[in-house]
Amino acid sequence: MKLRDKLLWAQIPLALALLLLGVLGVNTLGRLGRAGQEILADNYRSVLAMQRIIEHLERLDSASLFIVAGERQRGLEQVNAHVQPLEMELKVQEGNITEPGEGEATRRLREAWKRYRSGFESFLAMDSSERARAAYFDTLAPEFQEAKAATQEILALNQDAMVRKSDALQRQSRRVNTLMVTAVVVALVGGLLASASLTQRTLRPVSVLSQAVQRLGQGDLAARAVVEGRDEIAQLARDFNAMAEALQRYRQSSLGELLQAQSSSQAAIDSLPDPVVVFGVDGGVLNVNRAAEEVLRLSLEGGGGPLGQVAPEVREVLERVRAHVLGGKGPYLPRGYEEAVRAESAEGDRWLLPRGSPVYGEGGGVVGATVLLQDVTRLRRFDELKNDLVATVAHEFRTPLTSLRMAIHLCVEGVAGPITEKQADLLYAAREDCERLQGIVDDLLDLSKLQAGRMVLEVRPVSSEAVLEAALAPHRVAADERGVRLSSELEPGLEQVEADPERLQLVLSNLVANAVRHTSHGGDVKVSARRDGERVRFEVADTGEGIAPEHQHRIFEKFYRVPGASTGGAGLGLSIAQEIVQAHGGEMGLASEPGLGSTFWFTLPQEGEQARERPEIGPAT
Ligand code: ADP
Repeated sequence: MKLRDKLLWAQIPLALALLLLGVLGVNTLGRLGRAGQEILADNYRSVLAMQRIIEHLERLDSASLFIVAGERQRGLEQVNAHVQPLEMELKVQEGNITEPGEGEATRRLREAWKRYRSGFESFLAMDSSERARAAYFDTLAPEFQEAKAATQEILALNQDAMVRKSDALQRQSRRVNTLMVTAVVVALVGGLLASASLTQRTLRPVSVLSQAVQRLGQGDLAARAVVEGRDEIAQLARDFNAMAEALQRYRQSSLGELLQAQSSSQAAIDSLPDPVVVFGVDGGVLNVNRAAEEVLRLSLEGGGGPLGQVAPEVREVLERVRAHVLGGKGPYLPRGYEEAVRAESAEGDRWLLPRGSPVYGEGGGVVGATVLLQDVTRLRRFDELKNDLVATVAHEFRTPLTSLRMAIHLCVEGVAGPITEKQADLLYAAREDCERLQGIVDDLLDLSKLQAGRMVLEVRPVSSEAVLEAALAPHRVAADERGVRLSSELEPGLEQVEADPERLQLVLSNLVANAVRHTSHGGDVKVSARRDGERVRFEVADTGEGIAPEHQHRIFEKFYRVPGASTGGAGLGLSIAQEIVQAHGGEMGLASEPGLGSTFWFTLPQEGEQARERPEIGPAT
């Protein structure tokens, strides 16, 4: 059955109750009406007839008195006017005998009337008024009284009956009233209850369906609506069940795919020999590979946080790289093997070099960071070997180089005897190359000291102006010779900087030497220092040849030299400078445009500012 039909059926008890009440009401009203009509027909008609008969009798009596009084004509007219109507009323009464005793009284009336009429005939036949008067008093008057008495009896009978019936009617109407009120209440309550229960039964499937929908909404994909029948709600329930079924199947299949994808990606990172740690955007560890668990003792299970078991130095590196990547600074690339951190493992110490890459979300924002700790134990050993070799070679070069320089100097001065002009030229060139070689050897020694962590910074407040001047002074002659203008600019009131003056001077000196060397005649080299937030920013700007973009990002690498550029050293100056600046807790960078010039800059803490996490120089061996 359709829902509409069911709802219509649910209204039927109420409609039936109303129908019953209507029928009862019409019936009762009809009965009351009929009872009233009965009174009218049975009694009121008789009462009316009797009143009229009395009226006619009275008139006939007065007509006979007219005749007795000599007014015969007038009396006769009156008689004629009343005899016939009276006769008619009497006939009406004779046909409407309803009360006990009424028939007897009516017969008496008929008798009396008959006698009155025959008496009246003889009365009219009297020739003298004396006799007429005697006839009136002897015959007519007693018959008149008799007829009147019978009429009044009938009248009284009917009036009494009317009063009685009216009382009975009133009682009946009160009873009917009570009955109707009771019937209305019973029918209404019964009809309403029946309708409500039917409606509720019809709509119960809706609540079953709604509960199932709610459960599904809360994630219970096994929720189904059990609704019997063929109406629209049952159809809706069947559709809902089909939808829940499809959803469950889809969830199971997508969950399966998801699990498969997750296990294959887990297998992929597990297959990497190097430890990998994936951090979420809030910094928490999302995933680790097997190597991370074994080498770093990093575990997602267990208390104290995943990083709790990790050695402090490794944890510090992980946190630093994570902060770099999640801070939106892009991928983290190590500067060199010196950044490798030592991790103890069952197979001996391992050196791990951190790399970090951002994990991008759908919107393009960083939603995590992947940190890979590349095992560079062997490479680092090679690097150490190379550094040792370089340091040894540089060290071993120093003494012979000094003797060589001394010997050339003595020859040039003529101490070893006179020399020809040509010999002098050759010796000057040899001396210049010796100087260059000495510079390279010094650089190599500086670098090896830095890398071996043997260089100790003596940080103290230093006047920026003094450092600037000291760094410029050694290059003035060379600048003059090349026709390069050398100038400096200091922001007025600049605080002192926290630095090791000798190292700072070395950095500036390296930068100025490079700038002068790479700037052609007529160019400018400007050294400046100014406040940059909490720090002091030093800049060495030249109007020289500039550096092509493809070389800029490698310029601070050790032994890197721009191919084809006129160079003075072994490509170590900038990397030494950067090491020193970073050791002070500062940063270093450059901006350069080929053909227009380069600006090398670095920042240092101002005096009073606590140098933040100043890294140790060289690896923490
Ligand atoms: P080097 O001691 O050999 O000059 P550096 O590390 O100081 O090594 O410099 C590395 C390379 O950077 C050099 O080969 C040089 O070509 C380039 N370079 C350095 N400074 C400048 C500059 N101011 N203008 C152009 N090129 C420069």
